[in-house]
Amino acid sequence: MATSVVHWERREDSGWQKYDDAATAAIKAAEGAGQGSVQIVDRGTTCQLVFAQEGPKQVNPITGYRRNARRIVNPIGSNPGQAAVQWEWFDGNNWEAYPPEISVRVEAAREAGEAECDFTTLYGQDFRIEFGVDAWQTINGKQQPVRKVTTTLSPPPSAPAPTPPAGGFLSNIAGMVLRRSARLAGLAPGAQVPGTSANAPPAGPSSPSTSSAKEPEDEDEAPLSAVDFPMDGSVHPSLLRTIKNPDDEDCVVCYESLRDKPAVRLMLCKHEYHLECIKKCFAQKPKCPTCMRAYGVRTGNQPENGTLTVKTYTYEQAKHACVALEGHEGSGVIVINYSFPHGVQGPNHPNPGTHYSGTNRVAYLVDDAQGREVLALLRTAFKRRLTFTVGRSQTTGRDNQVVWSGIHHKTHPYGGAAQHGYPDETYHARVKAELAEFGVTA
Ligand SMILES: [Zn+2]
Ligand SMILES: [Zn+2]
Repeated sequence: MATSVVHWERREDSGWQKYDDAATAAIKAAEGAGQGSVQIVDRGTTCQLVFAQEGPKQVNPITGYRRNARRIVNPIGSNPGQAAVQWEWFDGNNWEAYPPEISVRVEAAREAGEAECDFTTLYGQDFRIEFGVDAWQTINGKQQPVRKVTTTLSPPPSAPAPTPPAGGFLSNIAGMVLRRSARLAGLAPGAQVPGTSANAPPAGPSSPSTSSAKEPEDEDEAPLSAVDFPMDGSVHPSLLRTIKNPDDEDCVVCYESLRDKPAVRLMLCKHEYHLECIKKCFAQKPKCPTCMRAYGVRTGNQPENGTLTVKTYTYEQAKHACVALEGHEGSGVIVINYSFPHGVQGPNHPNPGTHYSGTNRVAYLVDDAQGREVLALLRTAFKRRLTFTVGRSQTTGRDNQVVWSGIHHKTHPYGGAAQHGYPDETYHARVKAELAEFGVTA
């Protein structure tokens, strides 16, 4: 986890706030040394940061006042200055960050377009995160909202973050998620989750643990390049890694040694194949041939009978057709028409068997390199049935309508961002980020 960036925060009345550098360094050092607590100075007040079983706490020794604290790890592969992804769950009062090992898996599953990320085997009890228009975690039948937070990292820390003790602190946080949720779900007070013990002192590096969520890092792996794995965007390349020195085992597709030809590991299930063998399999269907784990892209429930048509205008033509874009005088215009006739809802719609009302929508893009790039992404999103869904119209409040699913479109040529029109300088960047949320990146 050489590239992970750790920081610490405590909960203020106004929300989570980062500790200053001195406090952060002290906390990291204590954590790395496996201490149960550490003295810090928080804005002039000397406090104790306690690595408590129920989660880290900042304690004022004079008043006894306790604040929640938390450790934030920006997932593997994130670098300062880049967007970092963190998944959080809502405990009924606050959004709580998942431990990094959960966050990384959730993000990988979401990226892969999977319907859910299942931790049941890992934690020995019903613990799943499901993705839909909204994401939910289910723990022993109790559902709570889940969200993804993307932040831009501040400049790199002066020293590399200490590696957390294996199986100790991190698995305690994982246990905390389960324990707190179990409590909220009304489980018996004595209910335990694997790898945790309610009465144990704060865990140090030598603490025994029956369940560790930490993934061993493999020095042998390297990311796959798009050249190695041109899959038309149907399988995300980050889900496969090349293996430099594979074990002397057979590829189950061709029964020849993995060492004979370039080999890859599927990152969600760790099964290994020859690159050319898995490419052939994925061309048939994007599932691991051994365990049938899905590696395909995310698709939505947009009605299948819709159409997307595109018309491009030169600036002169656009002016005559009254579709010239404000703030882009001189530029051509791409006009997208979406059209959905009325229909009947299918099994993956809110009211199967009920009619839904169709819609016609128009969207505008600047006919330049950026606009054409976004158009290509919007076409992919539409093909994957992600652009629209069936639900309640935000504007009319009516149910059973074909509605936008959350990829923003410019529906007016003018009027600025407030009118969903132009000019809007950050639109391209925003819509690309939204498309990426839906797994549409190419
Ligand atoms: Zn093979
Ligand atoms: Zn597999």
